[in-house]
Amino acid sequence: MKIKSAEFIVSALDPESFPKTTFPEFAFIGRSNVGKSSLINLLTDRSGLAKVSTTPGKTVLINFFKINGSWFLVDLPGYGYAKVGRTDREEFNESVNAYIETRENLACLFVLIDSRLPPQRFDLQFIDQLASVSVNFALVFTKTDKQSPTRTRESIAAFTALLKKRREELPRIFTSSIKTNEGRSEIQAAIESMCSGKRAKPSLRAAAAEDAP
Ligand code: GDP
Repeated sequence: MKIKSAEFIVSALDPESFPKTTFPEFAFIGRSNVGKSSLINLLTDRSGLAKVSTTPGKTVLINFFKINGSWFLVDLPGYGYAKVGRTDREEFNESVNAYIETRENLACLFVLIDSRLPPQRFDLQFIDQLASVSVNFALVFTKTDKQSPTRTRESIAAFTALLKKRREELPRIFTSSIKTNEGRSEIQAAIESMCSGKRAKPSLRAAAAEDAP
């Protein structure tokens, strides 16, 4: 996919302030420091679109970007950072839950997992929560350049073994590295294919049809 334009639209916490659009939307979430900003920049060919943080847990707003004038990319706040206070955490939960539960045009939620770590409680808890909402999601195992392919495979196997105990179907799985560009074209292709409506939610197709002349 050639990225011709990447435009910041708005930062918001309250669903009332989310942009009103029927364009398909792709959201990214993961624990702080998982490499979410770096991956967003890799996917959009923009080095500074999402801020690569030196202070984990800083991004508390939901950031919306319009890509190629035809789809939205959403940078959700990182979760599971111990130093974020209780109130911040509650606010995070509320707005992220509100986003995931209500966003009609959400075509896919990419949940990022650090490929170097054994399965983490926060990641599993987050994925468990998704079971109650009918959201299409995929996993991206990040930072694969930091270890051997064998270690990455072992990590994915350990994670998916736990997931299999919890849900019938496994989500689609990607791997990524900002050093080798691994995963860029695969994730872009998946987004492209979902944009062409193959996996859009019925409500999204209905809304898009209403927009048609
Ligand atoms: P975020 O908090 O999830 O947005 O994570 P960042 O994108 O800010 O990345 C956290 C740190 O991990 C930064 O120092 C990045 O340079 C580094 N990082 C992110 N992705 C990769 C990767 O694929 N490979 C390597 N080697 N480092 C990465």
